[in-house]
Amino acid sequence: MRPDYPIIVCDVLIIGGGSAGAMAAIRAKEVDPNQKVVVFEKGDLKYSGCIARGMDALNIVAVPGISTPELYIEANALACDGIMDEPVNYRMAQRSWQMLKKLESWDVCFPLDEKGEYEVLQVHPKGRFCVTMKEPELKAILAQRVYDLGVRVINRTMAVQLLKVGDQVSGAIGMNVRTGEIIVCKAKSVILSSGGTARFGLPNNGYLYGVYDFPGNTGDGYCLAYRAGAELSGFEYTLIYYIIKDINAPLLYITLTRGANLLNAFDDHREKDHPSIKSMLQEHHEGRGPMRIIMSHLPEEKIREIEDILFTTERPVQERFFQGRNVDFRSGEIELWPTECFLCGGHGLTGVRVNEKAETTVSGLYAAGDTSLVARGHLSGAFVFGEIAAESASEFAAGIESAELETEQINKFIKTQETRFDQSGNPVPIEEFEYKVRRIINDYIVPPKNDYKLNHALRWMDRFRKELNEEVRVKDVHDLFKFYEIQNIIQCATMSALASKERKESRWGLWHYRTDYQEPNNQDWLKHIVLTQGEVPEDVRISHREIVRLGNSKTL
Ligand SMILES: Cc1cc2nc3c(=O)[nH]c(=O)nc-3n(C[C@H](O)[C@H](O)[C@H](O)COP(=O)(O)OP(=O)(O)OC[C@H]3O[C@@H](n4cnc5c(N)ncnc54)[C@H](O)[C@@H]3O)c2cc1C
Repeated sequence: MRPDYPIIVCDVLIIGGGSAGAMAAIRAKEVDPNQKVVVFEKGDLKYSGCIARGMDALNIVAVPGISTPELYIEANALACDGIMDEPVNYRMAQRSWQMLKKLESWDVCFPLDEKGEYEVLQVHPKGRFCVTMKEPELKAILAQRVYDLGVRVINRTMAVQLLKVGDQVSGAIGMNVRTGEIIVCKAKSVILSSGGTARFGLPNNGYLYGVYDFPGNTGDGYCLAYRAGAELSGFEYTLIYYIIKDINAPLLYITLTRGANLLNAFDDHREKDHPSIKSMLQEHHEGRGPMRIIMSHLPEEKIREIEDILFTTERPVQERFFQGRNVDFRSGEIELWPTECFLCGGHGLTGVRVNEKAETTVSGLYAAGDTSLVARGHLSGAFVFGEIAAESASEFAAGIESAELETEQINKFIKTQETRFDQSGNPVPIEEFEYKVRRIINDYIVPPKNDYKLNHALRWMDRFRKELNEEVRVKDVHDLFKFYEIQNIIQCATMSALASKERKESRWGLWHYRTDYQEPNNQDWLKHIVLTQGEVPEDVRISHREIVRLGNSKTL
């Protein structure tokens, strides 16, 4: 009997068409134009993900004559407080210059000064790696290439489950977020590039989607990988940024590196060129905040330069935001505030563990970008590991005759999906439930942490798991896909609380500050806390792994 859902067949399936996914799709077609490449994208590839429009910098580039991959390893190890696998980060830095040149050949703008040199800024504890970029059309440029190369993009489709045959990944189930239709992709290899968990803690502005990172990212990549048996790490690295109050949009590198002043609430000047988020958060929490950015002393042309970048690239909506608040950079000030807490491999250390070939611990499964653990790789990490994942996944696919499917896995999913609508009469609206889950994350997982709070977090997450199935209303397709998103947020919260409990020390400033273990302890904790699935998703198994050093790269 023919199944009543479409099955598409491909060599490489990419889950998430953001920075890493778009780059992976392009590279897979460059490696072998004849292979079939499919992207499942929850939004619309043209403007989805962290690069909604453009970006103002490629944060890590080892520019010849200015810095080296070796120096980057030193600098990033400091930024990661030692919890960094050297080979993956080395590989990323090694290919970063080539990546910049490739982007430039696609007409992505990296401004040059009058001497014909790039603007390279220092944003790491050591060395200069951050190359200014000015490209409001970055995502559109990537998307155009993806389509021109013949990649099949399936927009508005959320990957809800990876499929396996034996120990090997063999595709995924996707669900159209508007119609609820199921689409199955049978693939020889799969790349996960679906970002981090942007919707984790609740932002102060109270809006579920008013977060710093792309709000469509709900830890799906982490959960898909985990349920397929992959190793995850870094869930105790609970990030909070310090950027524009209420809109949670970035501006620090753009303004401070161009001469803006950073003042605290008492008008004391703070470090300018290399602002550390850690120190700003500390100042804020010690009651000397909010910190403010002041530009009134800058010449008109500088202010225009800053406005030009801020209002066209990363978040063009900033222009309307400041107009609405009557903030003019020539006279006013920009108030900064802590963002919500989020999990992310690109800004932080949370991710699916990969080696320098982007291989996860599951055969046929690769990861890139914020889903993967290429510690603090930012956009450079997403692009370079997008390429690496594509090369490895293509090679793997080339060695496989044809992908197989076990239809029971699909039938089982469809059956449970259908029963969800039995919840249409339940009392709790899904949005209110998400609000509650994320408020509790704020209360018990957001640092400062301690055993008492983390135990409460775990108890709440158990309760939420039950309530999601028994109390929450699922009346239409919209609610249904939110259901899957919130299920993943709860799973991420459970994993974050467990990893945070396990790391009995404080590390990374506020981001893993435990009031019951206030000091860092390198003797016992200079290692990864690794999470894998036991019998069921809530059965999270914890183990430890040594930091991988250069020359010892095979050890995952
Ligand atoms: C506001 C902001 C500014 C930044 N500025 C800079 C900068 O100037 N320089 C720099 O180097 N770095 C910067 N970064 C970091 C950098 O942009 C990210 O690390 C990088 O873009 C992450 O790429 P990604 O592909 O992993 O995630 P994303 O680009 O977010 O892509 C993830 C994609 O997966 C899709 N998705 C999610 N779940 C599913 C699912 N279940 N099924 C299908 N699709 C799914 C999403 O819709 C999204 O399109 C910034 C980040 C942010 C948020």
